[in-house]
Amino acid sequence: MSLIVQIQGEQPIFPGNACVHCLQPATQQIEIVQVKGDVVRKIQAPFCDECLALRRAKSPRQIQFERLALASNTVLALVAGAWTYTQVSDLGRRMWGLLLGILVALIVFGIMYLITQPWAAGFRSPETKAALQAIAIKDFNWDTTTLEFANKEYGERFAQVNRKE
Ligand SMILES: [Zn+2]
Repeated sequence: MSLIVQIQGEQPIFPGNACVHCLQPATQQIEIVQVKGDVVRKIQAPFCDECLALRRAKSPRQIQFERLALASNTVLALVAGAWTYTQVSDLGRRMWGLLLGILVALIVFGIMYLITQPWAAGFRSPETKAALQAIAIKDFNWDTTTLEFANKEYGERFAQVNRKE
């Protein structure tokens, strides 16, 4: 059960230096960002080392998928680059063929990376997903920020120290 808390302004008070995810003593601040149109709201949320490691952890399946994606994206990029090179070289422009071939390979690799990267993120472990969802900016406007806390106990403590006057 998550808890949604709305605060005034954009500078929340985080209760007692506790980690947003597990309530243990926090060691670092993590930037939480939300974008709405062309407006960006950023807050610094406290996390402990353990939960930070969880947020960054990659599951074995995720690593496996990323390796596979990297290999197949590279092959695809090389094939597309080589094909471009032969097409242009046939017209008697080898130098252009080489340059265009490299350019096409880079573009294909970039596009495939953008497609496969979010896919790999889907293989995150439930623990990592939970740590990533510990705090989120749900909404904001010019005078309020609405935050969502996965840990209800933390959310209640947070609501208490940020109560509107
Ligand atoms: Zn923690």
